[in-house]
Amino acid sequence: ERAPIITVDGPSGAGKGTISQLLAQHLGWHLLDSGAIYRVLALAAIHHDVELENEEAITLLAAHLDVAFLSVAESDEIKVVLEGEDVTGAIRTPEAGNAASKVASLPRVREALLRRQRAFCAAPGLVADGRDMGTVVFPNAPLKLFLTASAQERAQRRFNQLQDKGFDVKIERLLAEIIERDERDMNRSASPLVPADDAIVIDTSGIGIEGVLELVLEQVKKSI
Ligand code: C5P
Repeated sequence: ERAPIITVDGPSGAGKGTISQLLAQHLGWHLLDSGAIYRVLALAAIHHDVELENEEAITLLAAHLDVAFLSVAESDEIKVVLEGEDVTGAIRTPEAGNAASKVASLPRVREALLRRQRAFCAAPGLVADGRDMGTVVFPNAPLKLFLTASAQERAQRRFNQLQDKGFDVKIERLLAEIIERDERDMNRSASPLVPADDAIVIDTSGIGIEGVLELVLEQVKKSI
């Protein structure tokens, strides 16, 4: 961990993804979307007909996962390629998210992905987005942020995001899924979703993206 790192953790829909992307762009730093790795792994498991509870098989898949994150010229988009196949859209479905949270609950799977995640740390710096970036993957990061928002608000945001992408979803179902996923992420024994002791917790309920970015940049100015 030679380059500086900002970790951005929190539950799904708290605005981590957008904020991390904007922050990385603003600083000109690399971005680690660790959730995308769990999502790709879940897709790989489904493709290879491996059960999502099969820790041994999923760990093996994780160790050999053939995934590339490619920046697309003239665009903010990162193209995600699994075994030669473009899965950029496929990993964003609610089903992929749910499957990701299942494979993410397996301790040996998390262990197998540690090195791959740490390899993203490179000069001039890294913004790392996830659930355990500040607690487990980069415990020495000089700035740790933990973004939260009410479940209702997070469901509404996910709804808007998915609708923009053309998915036909029901907000009630999203809310139920978010609550179920939070439950699983917070109560698992391996790297549960909790703020690091030295994390700065920001509740983004009722604050727009611009407002959250402002709050975050204040913290960055103070500490980096
Ligand atoms: O952030 P995103 O919704 O893409 O993450 C999908 C799932 O992957 C989460 O619900 C969580 O269970 C898991 N995850 C994790 N640790 C991370 C990132 C994601 O367990 N660092």
